[in-house]
Amino acid sequence: MHALDLHFTHQSKASLTFRAPDSSLRTAFWASLILLAGAAPMQAVLPSAPTQAAVMRMFDAWRAPVPPRHLLANIYYVGASGVSSFLITTPEGHILLDTGFDDTVPIIREGVTQLGFKLTDIKIIISSHAHIDHVGGHALMQKLTGARIYASAGDARLLASGGTDDFIPFPRETIVYAPVTVDHVVADGEHVTLGNVTLTAHLTPGHTRGATTWTMDAVVDGALRRIVFFSSTTINAGTRLLHNPLYPEIVREFETTLTRLKALPCDIFFAPHGGQFGMAEKIARLDRDETPNPFIDPDGWRNLVTRAERTFRDQLAAERAAERNSGPDR
Ligand SMILES: [Zn+2]
Repeated sequence: MHALDLHFTHQSKASLTFRAPDSSLRTAFWASLILLAGAAPMQAVLPSAPTQAAVMRMFDAWRAPVPPRHLLANIYYVGASGVSSFLITTPEGHILLDTGFDDTVPIIREGVTQLGFKLTDIKIIISSHAHIDHVGGHALMQKLTGARIYASAGDARLLASGGTDDFIPFPRETIVYAPVTVDHVVADGEHVTLGNVTLTAHLTPGHTRGATTWTMDAVVDGALRRIVFFSSTTINAGTRLLHNPLYPEIVREFETTLTRLKALPCDIFFAPHGGQFGMAEKIARLDRDETPNPFIDPDGWRNLVTRAERTFRDQLAAERAAERNSGPDR
């Protein structure tokens, strides 16, 4: 099971189908939803937003400390069990991608030190997207390091609001975090350079309005590899694609994002949750000294994007069918 399937999805009929590895099962499931939709309002058949208790259970499963470790090139994992945090080191200081929850910060601090780096050498903090499980630690980490926080315009607004200015239909108390003032707003295609590392920002909105996929190049196994730090394309349970008054552009933006992700060259990919990039399995293979490096996985990337697109199209089709069947009074 991939964390993509868990990420902000509720324990519902729909999350069961997201977990089904077999596409015919998935199709059959959505077909049954579409049939059901003829007899029931849309809310009854599409997943609804989770309760506070369900969200907290999911988050709590992600908070455990795990040992920090070198992944490849100058990239290290310093996150918790279920929320990623990547340290990208350079001779001129380091970049930190995602800070997890506020209580992930001590795990990151401990990990960075254990790896032999100085926390105060973190100069730039960037993020995959401005949800509590990835930027909840930003304010505290900035206080500890003095690093500058970079984010896209869409996520900068969400960060400034401490997570409240979001279209996510989750209970408010589960999504709020310490507000963050962004020091630098990154534009689409902007290069962020520190020392000998250059990361490129690719705006991939939909999961949040400012969701950002980052790319860089590094030599792995003797060749230059294209590395992608995926943002997220999960449609959180309860989020509607059609007629969403809080995010009217959501369908158009997801379409653009999927097109961009399909066109992105990728040899190696990482993601906000370990399960989304097969971290545990790849690390186990790395520990067996497998060659080529198990993180070189262009097929895994293509599969991730294919699954993301299928999930999007399935929900869009189900919502359209429900709308057709609910008649002109709706
Ligand atoms: Zn998220």
